[in-house]
Amino acid sequence: MRAGETSLGKSTLNKNVLLNNTLPEKKVNMMPVMAYDAKIYVAGHTGLVGSALVLELQRQGYTNLVLRTTHELDLRDSQATRAFFESERPEYVFLGAAKVGGIKANSDYPADFIYDNLMISANVIDAAYRTGVKKLLFLGSSCIYPRLCPQPIKEEYLMSGPLEPTNDAYALAKIAGIKLCQAYNRQHCTHFIAAMPTNLYGPRDNFSLDSGHALPAFIARMSAAKERGDKEVAIWGTGTVYREFLYVDDCAQALIYLMNFYDGTDIVNVGTGQDATIRELAEKVKKAVGFAGELVFDTSKPDGTPRKLLDVTRLSALGWRASTSLEDGIAQTVAWYKEYAQEVKK
Ligand code: NDP
Repeated sequence: MRAGETSLGKSTLNKNVLLNNTLPEKKVNMMPVMAYDAKIYVAGHTGLVGSALVLELQRQGYTNLVLRTTHELDLRDSQATRAFFESERPEYVFLGAAKVGGIKANSDYPADFIYDNLMISANVIDAAYRTGVKKLLFLGSSCIYPRLCPQPIKEEYLMSGPLEPTNDAYALAKIAGIKLCQAYNRQHCTHFIAAMPTNLYGPRDNFSLDSGHALPAFIARMSAAKERGDKEVAIWGTGTVYREFLYVDDCAQALIYLMNFYDGTDIVNVGTGQDATIRELAEKVKKAVGFAGELVFDTSKPDGTPRKLLDVTRLSALGWRASTSLEDGIAQTVAWYKEYAQEVKK
């Protein structure tokens, strides 16, 4: 269990939460496909997304969750995965288990990233088909899109150009996961959908300076700098490139929404539709952390692609939009980090 995670006991049944908080008017007459006592397997429940999914499912009144750590069930093992599905028979599956990391981890361990993610996707998707899972949601990522995509990035740009070479092994495994879902749907009439979240952040993130993403790393570095009384913190690049960030609790709501109400087989982007510069992001973190020193942009370091923003027209048309502002999301993440800083891996 990650620092700050609640126990996974029975939550209060509150069927109105979904209708009150995540459904716009035009959807209120639709019934969610998942019954509140349906057996739901959240694969990767100890991770950033999986842990938010568990909390959000419980908050919405779902009472029958099935969870396994990697130690209990390594999803790279096809026999163990099949045996688990045969004995547990989940009705719905959120496939949030994956080997995930930042640029450094991706470029140091490309074989692990492609192998683990191919095996996890293939084993879970095949076992879900063989045991009659009613619906599965596969989690992809915005890095599946070509490196030089027009912005904002529409779903149809998938496979329209070369991938970013620093994480192409990971991205290819994720594309294979999407294609597995679509191929099983075509051949076996399954109901497997795929969501592509933008950069996520929030409580229980990976705050490691080596393997974490930009936002949690900013929080960890500025908090440490504040404690030491440092005069400045260096930020890689010019700070002028644009990135999109979605609060992980919003992402969890969107994924449950798609599971309940999305019937198509096309992939769906999950984001806010808004971006900010790295400088703006760093300034917001600085304010939330209370770091009084200077941010120094190290322009000798690479910036990466100038802009990366998902087009969320498809998701918006389905009736969902993000509700947490970047300020609020950062404030909540910083508050969590302050409370659990000693326990999280750095
Ligand atoms: P985390 O690294 O936080 O969590 C990964 C989860 O997968 C952990 O619960 C981990 O379990 C589990 N896992 C890893 N390997 C195995 C295995 N062999 N068998 C069983 N379980 C395994 O990742 P995130 O929550 O950030 O990401 C989840 C999904 O969301 C991924 O598919 C990712 O591509 C996608 N996503 C994430 C984004 C982000 O910004 N974080 C952005 C866009 C998409 P354990 O802790 O036991 O190892």
